[in-house]
Amino acid sequence: MNKSKRYDIIIVGAGLSGLSLAWYLIKEKYSGQILLVDKSFAPTNHKTWCFWGKKDHPFADIAHRTWEDTYFSALDFSSKLSLKDHLYFCVKESDFKETILKTLQKAPNVNLLEEDVLDFSSNSHKAALITKDNNTYLANYIFQSVFMPSNYDASARKYPLIQHFLGVEIKTDEKIFDENTFTIMDVDSDFNDGFAFIYTLPFNKNRALVEYTIFSAKPLKKKQYKKKICSYLEDKYSLTKDNYIIKRKEYGEIPMDDRPHTPIYSSRIMNIGTVGGFTKPSTGYTFSRVHKYSKKCAQALATGLKPPIPKATSYRFRYYDLLLLRVLATNVPDSRKIFRSLFKNSPLDRIFKFLSEETNFIEDLMVLASCYYPPFLRALTVHPPFFTQFDKNNIANSEQIQTKENYLEDLGQIPDNSAQDFEATVEQNHLYETFS
Ligand SMILES: Cc1cc2nc3c(=O)[nH]c(=O)nc-3n(C[C@H](O)[C@H](O)[C@H](O)COP(=O)(O)OP(=O)(O)OC[C@H]3O[C@@H](n4cnc5c(N)ncnc54)[C@H](O)[C@@H]3O)c2cc1C
Repeated sequence: MNKSKRYDIIIVGAGLSGLSLAWYLIKEKYSGQILLVDKSFAPTNHKTWCFWGKKDHPFADIAHRTWEDTYFSALDFSSKLSLKDHLYFCVKESDFKETILKTLQKAPNVNLLEEDVLDFSSNSHKAALITKDNNTYLANYIFQSVFMPSNYDASARKYPLIQHFLGVEIKTDEKIFDENTFTIMDVDSDFNDGFAFIYTLPFNKNRALVEYTIFSAKPLKKKQYKKKICSYLEDKYSLTKDNYIIKRKEYGEIPMDDRPHTPIYSSRIMNIGTVGGFTKPSTGYTFSRVHKYSKKCAQALATGLKPPIPKATSYRFRYYDLLLLRVLATNVPDSRKIFRSLFKNSPLDRIFKFLSEETNFIEDLMVLASCYYPPFLRALTVHPPFFTQFDKNNIANSEQIQTKENYLEDLGQIPDNSAQDFEATVEQNHLYETFS
């Protein structure tokens, strides 16, 4: 039997959400013992995280680039748009990980562990982490970003869309990019199996990440994205393959999930990040939601409070997301018209505020009124406001969340099935005495 070790908090997954939470705990001077676990801490640079925020955003210092101007183009409308109240930030995964891990390595209460996680279990007093090497680690709370909640059923989604993209970071011979203007969307009107666009982040005059992104049900073959990028570079910048070298590739599939996930894995184990439902269904943006929860959670823990349970976003914003997902899933030409009208008629700061779900109802109406509306009216008839039950499971989820919140409030009670799972796992792993 391998010996168990005890910590105050275990964070499982040292990706965006796990590292953000650990970083905020140190920033908030949390004094408990923290274990951060990942199957590998080796440096990776597979993702470029972008988000918008105020100039003094806590991660502003590690941003690789920021922009105030963007280019948008769809159908007959093309324009350069400017931000006044926000900046658009770009953080490289490698910079983010390196900076945060350096801070964590200096913190006396943080322990890093490289192991592959097998399972979790919990009761009303402790949560347990079991690794593939049959080691167990105990804590008051576990925050995990590695496993989907066990009751998650992807097939129950109303609109099974994914945001899929392939990007190439290229270095050109000539200085051809406007480094002060990123391209938020250059909509592809020739592709009809999904809503497709090119997204470009110019890092300097001769280096940029150029991505072909599609909202549709199925990913393409890799060579199809590459072909689109090649012809875009040729049409827009007169670049042939001889004029640039590919430094890096980036591929992603982000579920545009119209149901909130269960925020609790089991008693004392929280789901965070993508598996916690932090990804906004209609956009795929996750970074800001992760950052907001991590800060709130670290502040609570540092002041001796229980961690807040990650909440589903409000009905209002989930409802708007659902309407847009319906249009994206059923009518590509209408989707183009919606984005065209949105970027043509609304200031960019207001669009970003709306997408951050920080607008009031009047501002929501201003954004919605700026959009091409017939597809939304049709979507309203399928999903009537106030009567739309997102789906049965979703209601089950809310009840379950409520019940589990009560369990966390009153730590004397735990769900029966959780207790059984817990005992079964403990027995299987010969852990009983470590808990008694
Ligand atoms: C290519 C790409 C680009 C993206 N760009 C953006 C963007 O610009 N803006 C934005 O807001 N969102 C973006 N997203 C969406 C989202 O922000 C990211 O996917 C983000 O990394 C999710 O964070 P996370 O913590 O949930 O998961 P991850 O960052 O994937 O972290 C999960 C961690 O768990 C570890 N792990 C997994 N299984 C195990 C196991 N069994 N044992 C131990 N460890 C394990 C992994 O090694 C990993 O480190 C992007 C996604 C992708 C794929």
